[in-house]
Amino acid sequence: MRYVSTRGAAPELGFDEALLTGLARDGGLYVPKSWPRFSASEIRSMRGLGYAELATRIMARFIGGSISEDRLRRLVHDTYSSFDHPAVAPLKQLDGGLWLMELFHGPTLAFKDFAMQILGRLFDDVLQRRGERLTIVGATSGDTGSAAIEACRGRDAVDVFILFPKGRVSPVQQRQMTTVDAPNVHAIAMEGTFDDCQDMVKALFNDLAFRDRYRLSAVNSINWARLLPQIVYYFWAALALGAPDRKVAFTVPSGNFGNVFSAYAARALGLPIEKLVVATNANDILSRFFNSGTMEIRGVKPSLSPSMDIQVSSNFERLLFDLYDQDGAVTGRTLDSFRQTGSFSVSQAMFGRARALFQATGVDDMATLDRIRAIYAATGEVLDPHSAVGIEAAFRMRAAGSLDAEAPVISIATAHPAKFPDAVADAIGTRPALPPRMADLMDREEHVTVLANDYEIVSGYIARHTNAREEVA
Ligand SMILES: *Cc1c(COP(=O)(O)O)cnc(C)c1O
Repeated sequence: MRYVSTRGAAPELGFDEALLTGLARDGGLYVPKSWPRFSASEIRSMRGLGYAELATRIMARFIGGSISEDRLRRLVHDTYSSFDHPAVAPLKQLDGGLWLMELFHGPTLAFKDFAMQILGRLFDDVLQRRGERLTIVGATSGDTGSAAIEACRGRDAVDVFILFPKGRVSPVQQRQMTTVDAPNVHAIAMEGTFDDCQDMVKALFNDLAFRDRYRLSAVNSINWARLLPQIVYYFWAALALGAPDRKVAFTVPSGNFGNVFSAYAARALGLPIEKLVVATNANDILSRFFNSGTMEIRGVKPSLSPSMDIQVSSNFERLLFDLYDQDGAVTGRTLDSFRQTGSFSVSQAMFGRARALFQATGVDDMATLDRIRAIYAATGEVLDPHSAVGIEAAFRMRAAGSLDAEAPVISIATAHPAKFPDAVADAIGTRPALPPRMADLMDREEHVTVLANDYEIVSGYIARHTNAREEVA
């Protein structure tokens, strides 16, 4: 399998290289050069497989040649056996046509563990074979950082530096990052906002000399290997509800468009998905696009679902590239002008193609709390605010007749309610408890470095603490 950049001006790579590189050197994102396809009978033959075996079958198509299927199988089984639930991604029926797929039974209680736990193992595997090391640098508003730290802790071939905005992540999220005591893990509380952290990471990557010298790599969802393992749970849910002989629809609480792009990829592989509902909070750049054909930047407003508080969805670039018939030059020009002007529009034809699959709606905090309360009253199920945004979107789409009434709707639960206890308590009056293995999280010792929002200070800190560097001849 070969990978190409969405901007068309970076070298074509194999899986290993795409994994290690993350962001393409032309500023684009790597995508498969062409989508492999599973026939209906191949999909039918996946029914009844356990989660890890299903993951091996699907991921092997994308990794083939880089890692043997046996090795991949071991790595995948090892990953998902560490999850708290025997089904890995359990499905719960909420009413006649609506299911919830819980993706929060991994080590950090959010869906990001599904991919990040694989990514950490893949990095280790590929780097050890090559005798190389990497410095992983990322910015986080919460969930990505804890998932990355948990995935990389104690791994031999990587050092990980996660920047989070000091005082601006939830106490549970902060503790998940700062209570990990491993010499290769560096949780950095940076003075500033999440955008400052993200700008700092961009500046580090754009400093090509620094990037090469310390062998920087990214674990945010611009890395293709972050999206690949997420394809699996869309197959898992659809197979459980009758695929390939019955179509399904998904609603996906969305921020950077990574999770829902994985659903799009599942469909490209042949999974019969009738509709994808992109559910956003009040930071609704995506839902405005899917309802108007215009992408337009506005400021970020803090919400009860902070992991979706984004200004620009980086993974949307991958869909845009497909909508432009994989023309990297046009994709690049469109996004360059978007960066300058703050908006772009697609043609009516392109918008029509997008609307044939995607529906979208924006859910504000009030509606989020109402939905948590209503689902609790009706079913006893406690939703976190992100998951509630998805469920609310599903109710709206069904009420509007936007979904095929015959197709089951599966809404993605992206986080455990105990990760966002304050919002949940606001809605239903009780604070959800952390799972037993994490019950003492708030009492564990923290390991955190506070740094100013200053390029020399942050880059200097990384340079002094990483063990990865380019050999100088
Ligand atoms: C990251 C995250 C999201 C948004 O997912 P994207 O892939 O960025 O669209 C939604 N909910 C939770 C809990 C998250 O951590």
